[in-house]
Amino acid sequence: MYPAQFEYHKAGSVKEALDLLAKHKDDAKVLAGGHSLLPAMKLRLAQPKHVIDIGKISSLSGVKEEGGTLVIGALTTHYAIESSAVLKSKSPLMPEVAGHVGDPMVRNMGTIGGSLAHADPAADWPAAVIALGVELVAEGPKGKRTIKIDDFFKGLLTTALADDEILTEIRVPAAAANEKSAYMKFPHPASRFAVVGVAAVLTMDGGKIGKASIGLTGAGTKAIRAKGVEAAIAGKAADAASIQSAAEKAAEGVDVQADLQGSVEYKQHLLRVFAKRAMEAAAAKK
Ligand SMILES: Cc1cc2nc3c(=O)[nH]c(=O)nc-3n(C[C@H](O)[C@H](O)[C@H](O)COP(=O)(O)OP(=O)(O)OC[C@H]3O[C@@H](n4cnc5c(N)ncnc54)[C@H](O)[C@@H]3O)c2cc1C
Repeated sequence: MYPAQFEYHKAGSVKEALDLLAKHKDDAKVLAGGHSLLPAMKLRLAQPKHVIDIGKISSLSGVKEEGGTLVIGALTTHYAIESSAVLKSKSPLMPEVAGHVGDPMVRNMGTIGGSLAHADPAADWPAAVIALGVELVAEGPKGKRTIKIDDFFKGLLTTALADDEILTEIRVPAAAANEKSAYMKFPHPASRFAVVGVAAVLTMDGGKIGKASIGLTGAGTKAIRAKGVEAAIAGKAADAASIQSAAEKAAEGVDVQADLQGSVEYKQHLLRVFAKRAMEAAAAKK
């Protein structure tokens, strides 16, 4: 399979990339790790006339700490996140989720920014970043703006990013001492994409769950916050009965889609099972 003909541009800076985007508008696509865009181009699902390669813009890659925030460059690969010492100590859910993405080759090439901008409904990162309550920084012709994660995913492969913007940073709040988290996923056996994935961040209050933040991916057209589960578990004991009862609400508000992987009912069942497993796994952590 070969992509349709296109012109390749290599951007040396964010400004250069933005100028190219402004010039070629709808005819252009940004290329990061290429692990979603290139397959789409080869299948002719995407046929950009101009491909703007941002992959070598070094300022967009890496993890740094700014006060209580971990700032992750959009071009940071899944593997760099999986192996980051600062993330392991300050936001352990990030490396945990990175380890679930695809296989080593995908993790070495694919980027967190590419995954979020692509908004594949079966991607792993969206569940995690919703649960962690991250903020995203986008840069466009009018400068920078910050987007709250709850305002970012708009629908199937659609986000709040404008065509002339580039996602530059993912800003993750460092985990509090009383925070526990886990990600549980039912992977597609071939691609490893999430048939269903649930990320749980629990803020503990003694033996109780003071607050829960739960992100779901895989079952619907976009990743979503499990508001029903969050409300049901807040203030409850971190025991099997409370978790089971709250997890029953996991499919509420999700536009679950039937496909080759399963029926609506089956995926609703998976959401409940994996919400329970994610909360149990988080609560069991030291
Ligand atoms: C075999 C295989 C298995 C996979 N398994 C999984 C899996 O289990 N879980 C999972 O979550 N993912 C999986 N993926 C997807 C993988 O994680 C990709 O790396 C990711 O979805 C896209 O990142 P990328 O850097 O490759 O983006 P690209 O393919 O370069 O770009 C994807 C899209 O995002 C846009 N884009 C990229 N970067 C930016 C930016 N900074 N600002 C604005 N727009 C941008 C591009 O224009 C394009 O439209 C798999 C991919 C493959 C090929």
